[in-house]
Amino acid sequence: MAKTYIFGHKNPDTDAISSAIIMADFEQQTGNTEATAYRLGEVGPETQYALDHFNVTAPALLNDDLSDQKVILVDHNEFQQSADSINGATIHHVVDHHRISNFETAAPLYYRSEPVGCTATILYKMYQERGFEIKPEIAGLMVSAIISDSLLFKSPTCTEEDVKAAEALKSIAGVDLETYGLEMLKAGASTKEKSATDILTMDAKSFNMGDYVTRIAQVNTVDIDEVFARQEELEKEMLEVSANEKYDLFVLVVTDIINSDSKILVVGAEKDKVGVAFDVELDNNTAFLPGVVSRKKQVVPQITDALN
Ligand code: MN
Ligand code: MN
Repeated sequence: MAKTYIFGHKNPDTDAISSAIIMADFEQQTGNTEATAYRLGEVGPETQYALDHFNVTAPALLNDDLSDQKVILVDHNEFQQSADSINGATIHHVVDHHRISNFETAAPLYYRSEPVGCTATILYKMYQERGFEIKPEIAGLMVSAIISDSLLFKSPTCTEEDVKAAEALKSIAGVDLETYGLEMLKAGASTKEKSATDILTMDAKSFNMGDYVTRIAQVNTVDIDEVFARQEELEKEMLEVSANEKYDLFVLVVTDIINSDSKILVVGAEKDKVGVAFDVELDNNTAFLPGVVSRKKQVVPQITDALN
């Protein structure tokens, strides 16, 4: 049997890493013994906390050329967020909860997309539908991914189904959702020891928006001011990266996970459009966005609209 490569997006978050591991386990249970999870980038401290807690090893970093290889994409579909050699791969299956964009295949495929808060929630439903066993560590990774993507159920992307899945999984995983969830989020939220590069790359995605390419990085924190104390250094790097990578716009979203607000930092020729997107005047390239925590629901569509 040929190998099946399973991976989430670049700059992987907890859902991207966990869902790859979960999907590999799911495939194994269908009899696909060659299903193997990979990652497209470094494991962040939040994800590492979850992996350690449930005694799971991180997937290997993907280095292989995927030309003519069988792949399964989880937690993404846009090719610019995927493996560099994705164009030559045979996409067998996608399980995702994002907008569908810049996605085309030569062959038919399975494609499961649901507008829920987390890919792991969809995977949980797939296990239920097939009557597959959910091992404690798989339940733990599902819970971790749901808590991460939903910011402990506070994000507007969080749905009833995400809450139901987490509630059903917590006893299998052996965790209290609030206690474990806050510890896990905090493990990923310290920005003190992170370099400007870390902050700008750990959870960054590129989006084609009309004629523009927008880079949107997000960092969780328990202290917004701690990040903005380094505004000058961050801006300088954002401008440099934008020049090198040809981004028209670079937005850093700094999200306070305790109070569920964000403050953004914006650079680029089209930066005033970001003010328009949120109906605010940028003050020294920044704006405070009360109640904004979700890049996918509260940032990307708004900026896309403003740029179109
Ligand atoms: Mn993700
Ligand atoms: Mn996700």
